[in-house]
Amino acid sequence: MDKSQGRVARDTAGELPPVVTHSGHRGLQLEEKLIFEQGVPGRIGVDVPNPPQGAADKLGAFARKEPIGLPDLSEPQVVRHFTRLSQKNYGIDSGLFSLGSCTMKHNPRLNEKMARLPGFADIHPLQPVKTVQGALELIDELARWLKTLTGMPAVAMSPAAGAHGELCGMVAIWAAIKAKGEGETRRRVLVPESAHGTNPATAAMLGFTVDPIPADARGRVDLAAFEAKLGPDVAAIMLTNPNTCGLFETDIKRIADLVHKAGGYFYCDGANYNAIAGRVRPADLGVDAMHINLHKTFSTPHGGGGPGSGPVVLSAALAPFAPLPYVVHGKDGFRLVETKEAGAAPFGRLKGFNGQMGMFVRALAYMLSHGADGIRRASEDAVLNANYVHARLKDVMTPAFEGPCMHEALFDDRFLKDTGVSTLDFAKALIDEGYHPMTMYFPLVVHGAMLIEPTESESKDSLDAFIASLRHLAALAKQGNQAAHFHAAPRLTPRRRLDETRAARQPILRWKPAAPPAPTAQAAE
Ligand SMILES: *Cc1c(COP(=O)(O)O)cnc(C)c1O
Repeated sequence: MDKSQGRVARDTAGELPPVVTHSGHRGLQLEEKLIFEQGVPGRIGVDVPNPPQGAADKLGAFARKEPIGLPDLSEPQVVRHFTRLSQKNYGIDSGLFSLGSCTMKHNPRLNEKMARLPGFADIHPLQPVKTVQGALELIDELARWLKTLTGMPAVAMSPAAGAHGELCGMVAIWAAIKAKGEGETRRRVLVPESAHGTNPATAAMLGFTVDPIPADARGRVDLAAFEAKLGPDVAAIMLTNPNTCGLFETDIKRIADLVHKAGGYFYCDGANYNAIAGRVRPADLGVDAMHINLHKTFSTPHGGGGPGSGPVVLSAALAPFAPLPYVVHGKDGFRLVETKEAGAAPFGRLKGFNGQMGMFVRALAYMLSHGADGIRRASEDAVLNANYVHARLKDVMTPAFEGPCMHEALFDDRFLKDTGVSTLDFAKALIDEGYHPMTMYFPLVVHGAMLIEPTESESKDSLDAFIASLRHLAALAKQGNQAAHFHAAPRLTPRRRLDETRAARQPILRWKPAAPPAPTAQAAE
């Protein structure tokens, strides 16, 4: 694209002097105060009748002794506040969201329609089992799809996220090790350096020692280093495939065989299953346990949009240790197994109830509407789109490894060398271009990493527009005199550069009034 075209000169970004408004608003983009700052003591949004005179106080010792500290607001204030906040949000429903290793794909509205059916949405987990037969059948049917797609004999449905699934799979592995009398001796878990942070965190949380395995020059597990680390104290390897460099671990079968031979287990992080669903069955790769992020591979919303769901498929060796509860069906219909039954050795429970029902409905709706062939096609298209991005950018940005890639394209910062522009600056400039940045500085095995996962639900048109912006920025950075432009980005957002490290390390999670609080008598009724 011609750089002089299509660029709207906007206040600080162009030659015009910055626009300062009296209100602080910028056009129809309103500056939003915290809801606490908007509250006015005594203002109310609902008209709750006073209790009848002389009514007994049923709260007793539980009655609140101090004001609750919530802001007093009218209904329109509340509606406007949250509507304006939602308009500041950027999500997959607003535009391309290239966050790598996250699979931000379109969530078909059919899924939402199904999840809102009252028979699914309005049921309670403590309802008698005979009144929720349809919901149990849905869980059972989704489990059947997951087992068929992965080739695995069992699946634990209750984990509520990928990381929770890792915990589930690793506790099952630990239980199996303990059952063999090796609980005290097998205490080391091998984790490749490219792994998602949740892998070492999970192993460490269970008291295992985390032993990192380096990557080789091809971005895969260094097989020799891995073999050297095997020993009688190894409990498991936690391996992601495709890995977080967006590459298929070509030695995966050999890795599985070797870890098994050493008496350990193979935990596969299946968060990147979007690249291989319908094409490869993890069981055929020797996997013992693998979580599937329904909120990534099977479309359901994630991040701010909804809870996660991370069912874990288990091999025959681990199946007996699967957590409670689980659904079985017999001649009397579907039943929830809530206590230990003969032949099983459940390690316990992971969750109060049965899993994320709304996510189950969405994932099954996605599977049924795509069919087995459609799921395979989605994986192929995800890989095709990532390779298209890789191929269209490799002359201006620097791919970390040679292609082809799987579902995500990884670049490093060599193309920014001597420009004064860092990965962070580049990503911030992308925000001004109207795109949520790709994953930055992850995986750690690559310097200044930029990990782009377009997903299958982006069209060629939207990819071309995205690529054009990246090419424009890469060319601009390489002009050599544009570092200041990048350092100042983003310029067009309501807030510019924030101290993200401090926000993460010292979050201020509680609002405190600037002035002394109003006397109790004036507080909310
Ligand atoms: C997303 C992801 C996870 C964690 O999943 P959550 O649902 O966010 O807990 C783990 N590993 C990889 C590779 C991931 O991409």
